[in-house]
Parts: sequence; C-alpha cells; structure tokens
Amino acid sequence: MDNLTMSQLLFPSIDKTAADHEAAYPPRELKEGAKVTRFAPSPTGFLHFGSLFAAFIAAKTAGKDGVFYLRIEDTDKKREVENAVAGIVDGLKAFGIAPSEGALGNGEETGDYGPYTQSKRTSIYQSYVKELVEQGLAYPCFMTEEEISAVREKQEAEKILPGIYGEYAIYRDITAEEAKKRIDKGEEYVVRLKSPGKPDGRISFKDEIKGRIEMPENILDVVLLKKDGTPTYHFAHAVDDHLMRTTHVTRGDEWISSVPIHLQLFRVLGFKSPKYAHIAPIMKEDAETGGKRKLSKRKDPEAAVSFYAEAGYPAGAVNEYLMTIANSNYEDWRRANKTESMDKFDFKLSKMSKAGALFDLVKLHDVSKTYISTLTADDVYSAVEAWSEKYDTELHSLLVSDTEYARRIFSIERGNKKPRKDIGKWSEVKDYIAYFYDELFDGVRGWAENVSKEDRDLILKRYAEIYDPSGSAADWFPQVQELAAELGFARSPKEYKQAPESFKGHAGDVAGVIRAAVTGRLNTPDLYSIMQVMGADKVKERIEQAINIK
Ligand code: GLU
Repeated sequence: MDNLTMSQLLFPSIDKTAADHEAAYPPRELKEGAKVTRFAPSPTGFLHFGSLFAAFIAAKTAGKDGVFYLRIEDTDKKREVENAVAGIVDGLKAFGIAPSEGALGNGEETGDYGPYTQSKRTSIYQSYVKELVEQGLAYPCFMTEEEISAVREKQEAEKILPGIYGEYAIYRDITAEEAKKRIDKGEEYVVRLKSPGKPDGRISFKDEIKGRIEMPENILDVVLLKKDGTPTYHFAHAVDDHLMRTTHVTRGDEWISSVPIHLQLFRVLGFKSPKYAHIAPIMKEDAETGGKRKLSKRKDPEAAVSFYAEAGYPAGAVNEYLMTIANSNYEDWRRANKTESMDKFDFKLSKMSKAGALFDLVKLHDVSKTYISTLTADDVYSAVEAWSEKYDTELHSLLVSDTEYARRIFSIERGNKKPRKDIGKWSEVKDYIAYFYDELFDGVRGWAENVSKEDRDLILKRYAEIYDPSGSAADWFPQVQELAAELGFARSPKEYKQAPESFKGHAGDVAGVIRAAVTGRLNTPDLYSIMQVMGADKVKERIEQAINIK
C-alpha cells in the first residue's frame, strides 16, 4: 500500500499507465527479421565524422526492409546548442543518409512512434517511473550534493566502488510518510532505481560487433529521473528504444560500460532488451608519435563533416569510404561489382572492426577518384557547378558561361571501359581543366627534357602547318608518326629502342611537345579529344604562342 501512496505522492498528475503507452506504440509490422535502428544524437554541437559514421552504420543496419529513425536526446538542456538539430538533419541529408522517421530539423517530426525528441516525452518517462515506484522498484532520494560528495570521498579513500548502493543508499526504504514530509518542506529529490543487482552477480551479452562480453552486474541505484523530473540518458534509452521498437542499438563503444545498467533497466521494466552493437571509434595514425589515436575534433580537420563539403568530396564517395571502413571486405566486392548500388552489398555488423578502423585521407582520395570516374559527364558537371557556386565563383562563372563546352570537357575519356581517375575532389577540377580556359591557362609548365629547343620549335612549326581539325581520331597519331619520321624521330618506342643512336627520340616525344604546347602539361587525358573540345582556333593559338618560348 505504501508503494501506491508513494507513487501517487510523486506523480499525482500522471494518469497514463505503461499499458496505455504499450497500446499506443504497438510492435511494428515489418517483414520477418527486419531491423529497427536509430541515430540518437544530443543536440550539443555539429555533426562530426564519428557521428556521421554511427548514423551510416545505423542506416545500413536497417537496410531497405527495416526502419532507421532519428531521435533527439535533448535531456541536458544546459549543453544544448542552438540550431544543432537542423545542423544534424542537414548534415545527414548532405551525405544521403535519410532517416524515415523522427525530427525533421524545423521543429516538426514525422512517424508514428514519436515524439522523437526526448524533452517532449517527459510524461511518458514518468508513467514508467510511477509504475516502478508502485512496484517498489524505484524510490525518491533526498541526498544533497554535499552528502553525495562525502559518500564518494569515503568510497574513494576505501578504494571501493563509488556510487549510491547498499548502505550508501540511505533513502532506499524511505516511507511515503517521510517522503511527504520532506517534499512538503520543499526538499528536492531525484528518483532512483532500487537496483536488484547482487555484488557478485555477473551479466553476459552478445555484442553484434564485439562478440560475447561478460561484466559485473549493476548494483548502483542509478538515477532515473533528475530533480526537474526529466530522465537520465540511461532511463530514456530503455523507455525510448522499447517504445520505438528498436531492435538494434548501434552506438559508440563508450557506452559499453553502461550496458549492465541498461540490461537491468530493460529487465525491471519488463521489456525485451534490444541487440547491442558497439562501434569502436575511428582511429588515426598520429604523425607525432607514430601510434594510433582517436580521430580528434581538435587536431584533425577531417573530423568535421564540413571538411568534405568544402574540399568537394562527393557524398557518394564519402559513403563509399564509410563502407570501406565499416566492412573491410567491401573493397573486394566493389572491385567485382563496379556499377552496382552499395545497397546490394551484404553489410554485416559482425564484420566491423572491434578495435577501431583507421581513417586514411589518401585512401578516401583514392576511393573518391574511383567513384568520380564512374559518374557521367552530366553528373560531374552538375556536381562541380553546385560546388563551385559555393566555393569557387571564378570557376563557376566559367562553367556556366558555356555549359556545353564544360560538359564536353568532362566527357573526355569518361563513360568508356577504363575511365580515367584524375579527379578526387571538386576542388581539384579547376586545375584539372585550367588549360581549356584562357582565363585559367598559366602557360607551359615545363617541356620534356629529352627534346631540344630547336627540335621543339621545329615540331611545333611543322605541326601548325599540317594540323587538321577535321581529322579523325584514327588518323591523328599516324599523322604524328609521319611528322616524327620526317624530323628524325622513330615512329614508335619499339623502333627507337632497336637503334637509339639513329633517332632523336620517338613519336611519343613529338606528341609530348604538342601536348605541352596546347595544354601546358606533360600528362593529360587523350590529346586528340582535348584538341577536338578546345577547337581549332585555340589549338593554333597555343601552338603559335609556344613557338620560340624558352
Ligand atoms: N545521446 C547519446 C550520445 O549523444 C546517444 C547514445 C546512443 O546512441 O544510445 O552519445
């Protein structure tokens, strides 16, 4: 009877029962085996790479058949940052990670299992705490900050488990009568779990990533509701993941140590516990020590998701990279399935790194080059146009001044069996296409050393005479070979190698001179295609300009 009086005393205005909530959020009707996952950030700042990775893992775990939702864990109002929710939603969206339920970032939400913002769920949590109090499984604790610190100091001195439990849980058996007296006097209290844990008890659970883990059972009378009646992370996690029917909790492995509390909460609440998958942090090779450390918001620019947008790594490429670090067998799969959607890959939590995958910018760049090489010229054009509008207005105005020209540039050696992998990020495009635009062309960057200045001028003069803009691709190189022979060069490297002393070089060297004159570079994509796109006037002008320069 006392428990009932106590629950009425603490929660006079809570009239909904746990059963009411159960009925309001029934089990989801999904395909057999479909998974329900969530990303549950606190709105305390902007999205960083580690959280993007966690959201990506949650989304991939749910896959097409499951549900992936966004829950905002804003129980700590002191740490909240303005507009953080919008930042998180936009951040996910920018990488194509789309929760199917939850906060939308504009104060609204979508989905049948909400509210998805913890500050809007206070009365739900209180209904459950009320029932725990009624069952004698939770109690009000009036300890002051000072009393708690004194307990902690004593425990530290005695080198025993710190916290409120056993003999330190002085309000464990408080009567409703005494609680009322204190409340009437205006004393503040939290509501604690009356932990059923035994000091020598052990728990064991199978983590979907880390495997079986055994730990001491929880014996702490953890706080369920804070003084202001809002829940702690632990309690809100249990109630929300139950009512939102989460099947797989994917989260950072800093939460592993809390699993004994969480499993106990699920048990006392009579909930089936979800499966846990604890994600190891993304690691980084430390240039200073040579060792490994966590990717750091302070030290590593790539820890901020804005880094990828600014550098112009396409979202698709970042996704490819995320999957590469998520499952190391992905790269092999991708090599064998170059054009398949990533969704066809059988992502497995069990294949994730237990210790933490290594972040590698060089690798990201490579992955991105391969990804970009699979895009169509139109897609590249659109992406570069959008990127440059924000980050490089000079490039942007050149592109839009003649979109057809730009599209033709991007189509060079694209769409074929072995597309070139020249571009890793959009910020490289300007330099890559600079020679197509007089405004960007910075002249000949250097000549190949094996052709003398005299021969170079000769080659250019003669080429200017024979250059035929209407010539076909098939005729182009044979013409260069003719020219090579005429000027004392071999027609091929093979011919040259047979008698190096008889030649000045070979046709490749001759083409190299033309290439350097037209583009300023020693290496470019197919020169014939470049000249076709550039047009005869510009080609001739470049050759004229190049004759006689040192
Ligand atoms: N709000 C928690 C955090 O920000 C979420 C942990 C979880 O996913 O359960 O880390």
